[in-house]
Amino acid sequence: MAHVIDGKRIAAEIRESLRVEVQWMREQQGRVPGLAVIIVGDDPASKVYVRMKRQACEAAGMASFHHELPGDISEAALLEVIKKLNADPTVHGILTQLPLPDHISERAVIEAIAPEKDVDGFHPYNVGMLAIGAPLFVPCTPFGVMELLRVEGIDPKSKHVVVVGRSNIVGKPMAMLMLAAHATVTMCHSRSVDLPGLVRAADILVAAVGKPKMISGDWIREGAVVIDVGTNRLPDGSLCGDVDFASAVQRAGYITPSPGGVGPMTIAMLLKNTVMSARRMQV
Ligand code: NDP
Repeated sequence: MAHVIDGKRIAAEIRESLRVEVQWMREQQGRVPGLAVIIVGDDPASKVYVRMKRQACEAAGMASFHHELPGDISEAALLEVIKKLNADPTVHGILTQLPLPDHISERAVIEAIAPEKDVDGFHPYNVGMLAIGAPLFVPCTPFGVMELLRVEGIDPKSKHVVVVGRSNIVGKPMAMLMLAAHATVTMCHSRSVDLPGLVRAADILVAAVGKPKMISGDWIREGAVVIDVGTNRLPDGSLCGDVDFASAVQRAGYITPSPGGVGPMTIAMLLKNTVMSARRMQV
């Protein structure tokens, strides 16, 4: 039976230590880390995520600047908002909640954010810095995965890590971080052949697909570490991961639940990136 990694508890500890650091910055330096979150339109899921980010910011004593923009805003007007935030010294982190409406280029928006305030780590400059092993900001979800492993004392060095999913926000940066941590990395995607066989070869599996319970327990090597990034909503409204937890927990050595595993870490690492940015801008 696997040890279940409690992402909620680990994230709460990180948030508490950030709260203490923010209080110190406020009292000793008269500075408050600030995060600006831009949401365009009224996608219900995006609204939930943005509200959670805002509440987490406020609970940590950080400043949160909320920009709720209409779904029919022009790309030029949105870029203008970002330009102002880039120049605002009270803002240390800027993120635009994705997805954006079809008439706005996601790429143009990501590239408009100043790389030194790009706390999501999506700007091509930051992607490049991560790829050469000198990251300025690490994307929050894979950063959260690395932190979970660190806290649990799991060192990816010389391990075979299999990442399922190759998105720019999870799979690819995850693979980069694992490589930097001296793992041997296999990346899988929708055109990979014999996914069960590839997964069985994993000492550490990271699933970031978006398909409920797609990875069954009998694909998992006995004692493997299973990190389930997937967050999927079932028809009954409940959430589940990409891994079939009930069968995988019987074989894995460590496993993250979903929800309650990687999800809470993503927001904790967003706050961490913002505090790091504020610290960096003070010197
Ligand atoms: P994307 O849809 O951008 O990427 C999914 C990836 O999975 C693609 O690379 C795709 O391959 C691959 N894939 C799809 N079907 C298969 C298959 N049958 N076999 C192998 N690979 C497959 O998703 P994201 O990376 O944005 O998100 C992945 C999951 O993680 C989702 O459930 C999402 O909700 C969750 N998530 C959770 C976060 C958190 O905070 N916990 C944050 C971000 C995401 P291909 O490239 O070939 O199409």
